[in-house]
Amino acid sequence: MSTKGAKSQEVRLLGEGISRGIAIGEPYLFSYQQPTVPVYPVSLTGRKEELRRFLAAVDKGREELLLLQRQLECEGAQDAIDIVEAQLQFIADPTIIADMTQGIMEEGRNAEAVFQALWKRYRAQFQSIGDSFFRERWADLEDLYRRILRHLLGGSQAALASVPKSAIVFATELSPSDTASVQGCAIGAFVTQKGGATSHAAIVARAKGIPYIANLDLSRLPKNLHGPVIVDGRTGVVILNPKPATLQKYRTTALHIADAMADLERQAEHKSETYDGHHIRLSANLEDVTELSLLHGHGGYGIGLFRSEYLFLSRSGFPSEEEQYDAYRTMLSHMDGLPVVIRAFDVGGDKHAAEQRTWKELNPFLGCRAIRFLLRKPEIFRTQLRAILRASAHGNISLLFPMVSSLQELREAKNIVDQVRHKLISEGHKIPAHLSIGSMIEVPSAALIADVLAQECDFLSIGTNDLVQYALAVDRSNDAMSGHYAPTHPGVLRLMKFVVAQANQHGISVSLCGEMAADPRLTALLIGLGLTELSVASRHIPLIKHVIRRTSIVEARHLANQALALADAGEVLSFLSNEYRRTAPEDVLYNPR
Ligand code: PEP
Ligand code: MG
Repeated sequence: MSTKGAKSQEVRLLGEGISRGIAIGEPYLFSYQQPTVPVYPVSLTGRKEELRRFLAAVDKGREELLLLQRQLECEGAQDAIDIVEAQLQFIADPTIIADMTQGIMEEGRNAEAVFQALWKRYRAQFQSIGDSFFRERWADLEDLYRRILRHLLGGSQAALASVPKSAIVFATELSPSDTASVQGCAIGAFVTQKGGATSHAAIVARAKGIPYIANLDLSRLPKNLHGPVIVDGRTGVVILNPKPATLQKYRTTALHIADAMADLERQAEHKSETYDGHHIRLSANLEDVTELSLLHGHGGYGIGLFRSEYLFLSRSGFPSEEEQYDAYRTMLSHMDGLPVVIRAFDVGGDKHAAEQRTWKELNPFLGCRAIRFLLRKPEIFRTQLRAILRASAHGNISLLFPMVSSLQELREAKNIVDQVRHKLISEGHKIPAHLSIGSMIEVPSAALIADVLAQECDFLSIGTNDLVQYALAVDRSNDAMSGHYAPTHPGVLRLMKFVVAQANQHGISVSLCGEMAADPRLTALLIGLGLTELSVASRHIPLIKHVIRRTSIVEARHLANQALALADAGEVLSFLSNEYRRTAPEDVLYNPR
């Protein structure tokens, strides 16, 4: 439907719902607004402080560039190294500091405003140079301007943190650190042009209970967009200028969903077992240590996956050993002996440390990610291992390696753990004799050598978000390919079945911590495939536990066999959705009416 002349007419736009739930709120246009540079006068006494702020922003920018440079050297990306080098030389030039000092002291305006004006002047000077080589080099320096300005303005976190409460945030794209920086209840919903269902930005939004619609053509929004706007994350529908009856209907459904969730949450004490007494260990995926209380409130059994990279995604630089040690100990102090699986930094793909943000790989998900990154950056890996091993003396920690694709990688990583352990002991630290070590199964090659990996580690954890993308050759964050991203593809199910069988045969535990574990339509299938451990965001524990409790192991095995006999992902999904609709018609989150 066209949005032209739609001033008071109800308009429905369709995207892809990637985090379920309903939100009604005022629209807020986020990332496709250029950052506004504030301009304000600064008194004589405040000018030194402005200069200090500028110098601090330059220092942060330099620190990021130096780390980026080291990263690029490790990659051998010469062109990119040259660009970073040019930026470093540019900020080392004392002229900038001299010009800024003069500007701030004489003009009496804030650092951002002076810097913006100064940069305009530099730009004009560069562009007046006849040689096109020099003009083109200027484009490389623009990134430096944005970097320093970002630090002066306080980064993207500050931008999202200042979004009005319950707003519907429209953005071209969101990064995992954008969504991670948001307090759950502060934002109504996200609507973006780009973004896949298992992109990390989406995973975090779901963990925080924020409805999210991606793949929506933002050019169709009217210029004078105003509220209220309805977002239905179940169906992917965004409604502008809703009629009073539509508003009423959605308000009622939203209340109904909230009541149903509250009802499930009250059952936190219930055991996580099928109605014929088969125990399923249900633990929590965690990105944010401050969300631990939700885990306990919902009756989760420990932490099945701590995505440790969120300790640094929204800041510059990797955390020190002491910072990490403190974070892991804080987590343990809330766990009362329950198991905590810390996954080593899964950096790369769509999760970049600040210093990597301008580093481009042609296929980042197939590039220097996770264990590959850690093995190439032993000082970062060793620092994390030191913190984990030290913390392991204070609780029930296991260590998980992300994106293992060969036995060689597992052995190398374990070898480094041993070296770090010996070093710590020689320094006088008390380290437990054994640390349980597991391998993520996210790459088809790892799934197919699950028997080999199982002989050299203590547990396996199937990461279906990646297993699906690598098995089906579909980038998990590419909205244009989302139709091909099919977790119920028979190829994926067969890989999962094989992994579970191999783990069982070798007597080690296997869990599933991908988003499939949080989809109630798939719970019976997973149990039927032989899984007895699932890890989901704390928010999803009540619903998944409820589904487990109404499933029988015999029926689940039968259902899994029926699903495995189907030839196509779509057939499997509609079979399982129909079964779920039949057994749980009251769940309007998954069975929208
Ligand atoms: C997965 O790939 O399923 C997983 C749990 O890891 P992440 O989503 O962090 O890549
Ligand atoms: Mg993964």
